[in-house]
Amino acid sequence: MRLLCSFLVVLTLLFPSSLAAYAEEKQSLSSSDEGLLEIRDFNQSPPFADGSTSTTFTISSSNGTIFSDVPTDHWAKSEIEFLYQRSIIQGYTVNNGLQFRPNARVTRAQAAKMLMKALGEKEQPISRARFKDIPSDHWAAGWIERAVEKGIFQGYEDGTFRPDDPLKRSQMSKVIAIAFQLPAPPSTASKVAFTDVSSNYWAYPYISKLYYHGISNGNQNKFMPESYISRDQFSAFLARAMNEDFRLPVNSSVIATGKVTAQSLNVRSAGNANASIVGKLNYGAVVNVYEINGYWAKISYGKINGYVHKSYLKLKNVNGNPLQGRIITVDAGHGGTDSGAIGNGAYEKNIVLSVAKKLQQKLEKAGAKVIMTRANDTYKTLEERVQIAKNNYAELFVSIHVNSASASANGSETYYDTSTNPNGYESYLLAKEIQQQLVKNANMLDRGVKDNNFYVIRYNTVPSVLVELGFITNKSDVQKLTSDEYQNIFAESIYNGIVQYYNK
Ligand SMILES: [Zn+2]
Repeated sequence: MRLLCSFLVVLTLLFPSSLAAYAEEKQSLSSSDEGLLEIRDFNQSPPFADGSTSTTFTISSSNGTIFSDVPTDHWAKSEIEFLYQRSIIQGYTVNNGLQFRPNARVTRAQAAKMLMKALGEKEQPISRARFKDIPSDHWAAGWIERAVEKGIFQGYEDGTFRPDDPLKRSQMSKVIAIAFQLPAPPSTASKVAFTDVSSNYWAYPYISKLYYHGISNGNQNKFMPESYISRDQFSAFLARAMNEDFRLPVNSSVIATGKVTAQSLNVRSAGNANASIVGKLNYGAVVNVYEINGYWAKISYGKINGYVHKSYLKLKNVNGNPLQGRIITVDAGHGGTDSGAIGNGAYEKNIVLSVAKKLQQKLEKAGAKVIMTRANDTYKTLEERVQIAKNNYAELFVSIHVNSASASANGSETYYDTSTNPNGYESYLLAKEIQQQLVKNANMLDRGVKDNNFYVIRYNTVPSVLVELGFITNKSDVQKLTSDEYQNIFAESIYNGIVQYYNK
């Protein structure tokens, strides 16, 4: 009884009206919280803890301890003290010392108050009680009101808020994801790996966000969504949501490898050209790629972690077909009012569109994302064709054409540009593979690969080639060019050339 009295006094200072509720919570603690202890959401060190970047921690009290029950080796000590220093959490004064009670549960009222303080919100004055069980003088009334206004918490249908109900980890995921407006993971991100959270579980989207943003990685592949959240777990989630420095490295999987095609490639701390440089990669280095967003690939290479511009990576899918996920522009030359070369009753624009569509099918079957600069008989300027590729973050550009000259000229040739395109050498390698396939499969005269600054291959920055399949003005070539069987062979040859390029 004595114990309880001193305990009540302390509590009165902190949460003046929550005595009964806390006492009840206290009773249930010892029996039910073993499950809580098992999960610590910390099974990896924070990102870049080895000092490989300029990331610094804002915690300065790591030598001593603020709370007697949060020792220096407590897994969430930094996060708990971070919140304490910002007056988001308080402790319990016991015998002139301060306790945190890391294993105690967090109630809805407590969570509402802490979240609102974390967001820098103020208590909302109450004119009329919104919930039957929250009188306007309830210690958390103003915080709950604000949290409800912001759409972070809701009441129950019976008009109650149930302020003393403990929160489950799933429920906490939802309120944190909403409170901090965490963006959904991109579709290329690796999926949540928790064995106890299926994709149709109601809180899956929220747990995915916490996982993706490094706020929780559970423990041993479990998230334990139905367990009640403890004060230390909640503190860890909250501090990580508030401050990027606390975020966990996301245990993501490698979606592709990328061979560096620039002489020197900057690795940046974030996916934009203004982000600080955290490392440099040399030509030929093969990096692991975890995620691609627009032009930026999240990579690791040895101890270097960061982002690089993907135009200077030869990306290759790691499981299955190497083309899976690659973004390839197929450019059928000419079109509409521009018929291209005409000979022997045939039109270049029709031949190249037909071959382009067959190539599109083959690439898509292999899992590539194909960008067609035109899919029908329409005219696009050269500028537009390049822009379409760039707007879609294309990784490869293949322009298909047919030649014309005197009746005797015949054969295939493939162009690349080294004058302006920074991937001139890669373009050359791609041209060689495609040319070889055309000659072999369609039995074309080999006119070779040639460096020439045609607009569409010059102004792309990714490996780009322009293929001249054959001569519309030559009797033998035009027969192939206008035959469905040979058009398929031409498409197959370009496809094989692309695969060969990626495989080397
Ligand atoms: Zn042409």
